[in-house]
Amino acid sequence: MKAKLTDGGQIDISRNTIDAFRTRLLGPLLLPGDIRYEESRTVWNAMIDRKPAFVVRCLGVADVIACVQFARHNRLLLCIKGGGHNIAGLATAEDALMIDMSLMRGVWVDARGKVAHAQAGCLLSDLDRETQVRGLATVLGFISLTGIAGLTLGGGFGYLTRRWGWTSDNVIGMDVVTADARLVHASSDENADLFWGLRGGGGNFGVVTGIDYVLHPVGPEIVAGVVAWPASEAARVIELYRTLAEQAPLELTLVFIIRPAPPAPWLPKEVHGKSIVAILACYSGRPDKGEEAVAAIKSFGNPIGDVLMRRPYVQTQTLLDATQPKGRRYYWKSEYLSHIEPALCEKVIKHAGKIRSPHSAVILFQIGGALNRLKEDHSPAGNRGARYVLNIAGSWETAGEDTANIDWARDAWNDMKSFSIGGTYINFLTEDEGPDRIKAALGAALQRLAEVKAKWDPENMFRINRNIRPKG
Ligand SMILES: Cc1cc2nc3c(=O)[nH]c(=O)nc-3n(C[C@H](O)[C@H](O)[C@H](O)COP(=O)(O)OP(=O)(O)OC[C@H]3O[C@@H](n4cnc5c(N)ncnc54)[C@H](O)[C@@H]3O)c2cc1C
Repeated sequence: MKAKLTDGGQIDISRNTIDAFRTRLLGPLLLPGDIRYEESRTVWNAMIDRKPAFVVRCLGVADVIACVQFARHNRLLLCIKGGGHNIAGLATAEDALMIDMSLMRGVWVDARGKVAHAQAGCLLSDLDRETQVRGLATVLGFISLTGIAGLTLGGGFGYLTRRWGWTSDNVIGMDVVTADARLVHASSDENADLFWGLRGGGGNFGVVTGIDYVLHPVGPEIVAGVVAWPASEAARVIELYRTLAEQAPLELTLVFIIRPAPPAPWLPKEVHGKSIVAILACYSGRPDKGEEAVAAIKSFGNPIGDVLMRRPYVQTQTLLDATQPKGRRYYWKSEYLSHIEPALCEKVIKHAGKIRSPHSAVILFQIGGALNRLKEDHSPAGNRGARYVLNIAGSWETAGEDTANIDWARDAWNDMKSFSIGGTYINFLTEDEGPDRIKAALGAALQRLAEVKAKWDPENMFRINRNIRPKG
C-alpha cells in the first residue's frame, strides 16, 4: 500500500506492517474499499475529494498515541479529522494516515464547577445536548454538525460570543498528544505557551484529545428564530438591522441574511427560490426580556415568515443546519468589520442581487462585546477589534457551476473588502487562500506561534492545517 511521507516522497507499507499496527489499536483501521472508509474520508465541502492511504477511527487517547508513534516511525504524512467541516478540507490529505476522531464523542459536565470536559471528536450538538441538561452552555457556532475541535482551535464564534468572547476564550484546558507521542495537558498553569498557541493557532501543535470549557447559565428556554421579508424591503431591513445591532444588549445577537428563499415550511411556497432578507435573532437571557428585545423586529413591515419565538436553546443551535448540508460545493469569502456602514449595506444588496445559485447568501454576523475587551495578544484568535463578520457564502450543487459561483463570491469580496478591519477568520479561509490571508487572520501572533511550533513540533509533523512553520 502506497502512503505519502512528510517530505513529499512515497513509501510502500506492507500488509504485515498494517496488520501489526492494527493489533495496537482498539478502534477500526480502514483501508480504501472498507465499509465506512468513504464516510471517514469525505468532508463537508464536496469541492474537496482526497483519499487518505488509511484511516484510524480512534477509540481513545491510546489509539491516538499509537497513530502518532506509527506515523513518526514511518515518517508518514498525518492528517486529523474532527467534524470534517473545514471549508478548505484541512481534515484530509491524499495518501496520508488520517486520525479520525469521530468516535470520541464523550462529554462530562461538572455542573457545580461549571466546566465541561469534551472529547475532541464531539460535534457542537453533542456538547450542547449534555450541558443543556444542566441549563448550561459554552460559546459554540451556528451549525450544530460542526466539530468542536476545529472550531475551538481556530477561535470560534456563535450566538453567545457577545457575552463571553471567542469559543477559545472559554477554554481552560486541553489534553494534547504531541509530536513525540506524549500526552500532555495545556492550561494557564501547565505548558502555558502551548495553551496560548492552541487558542487560535489550529491543529499545529499536536492531536487534541479533550477540551475543558467554562460553562454559563443559558436557557433551557430562550427567545430565538428568524423573521423574513421580500427582498424589495432589503434597504429598509438592513437599516433596521444596522440600528438595532448597534444598540443591542449583549444578550442579543443579530444576524442579517440576504439570499434566495430556501424551501422551508415556515416560508410560503410562492417565495421559494425568490430573493428574501431575514434577521436571525437570539436573546440568550430571560425569555420575557427577550420578547421585549425582539419586538421591533417582529413588528417591522409585513414579514413573509416569522418563527422568532420562545424555544429551547438546543433547538436554536440547529436552526440553520438544513441550509448547510454535507456534500454540496462551497466557496466563501469573509472579513471582520468594526461597523456596518451604509455604503456597505448598498453593496451587500447589490451583490446579493447577482447570486448565481439558490443556496448562496450574503450574511452579517454580529460578534462585538466580550471579545473586544481582551488584549490583542490574549490568544492567537486575536482580532479584538472585530464586531461583525461579513460572510459571502457561495453554495451550489455541481462542478459545472464552480466558476460562476466562485467568481460571484470573489467579485463581491473585491468590492467589499475595503470595509474590513484588515483581519479575517482563519476558519473561514478557503483552499485557495494563502499566506497573505493567514497573516490577515493571525497578524502579530504569527511570530510567537512559530516559536511555540518550534518547541512542540520542530519537524512540522502536524502540517495539514493553516501551517505555521517552526521558527528555525
Ligand atoms: C456550515 C459551517 C458553519 C460554520 N459555522 C461556524 C460558526 O458559526 N462559528 C465558527 O466559529 N465557525 C464556524 N464554521 C467554521 C468552523 O469552525 C471550521 O470549519 C472548523 O475548522 C470546523 O471544525 P471541524 O472539527 O469540523 O473541522 P475539520 O475539518 O475536521 O478540521 C479542521 C482543522 O482542525 C484540525 N483538527 C480537527 N480536530 C483536531 C484535533 N482533535 N486535534 C488537532 N487538530 C484538529 C484538522 O486537522 C484541520 O486542520 C462553520 C463551518 C461550516 C462548514
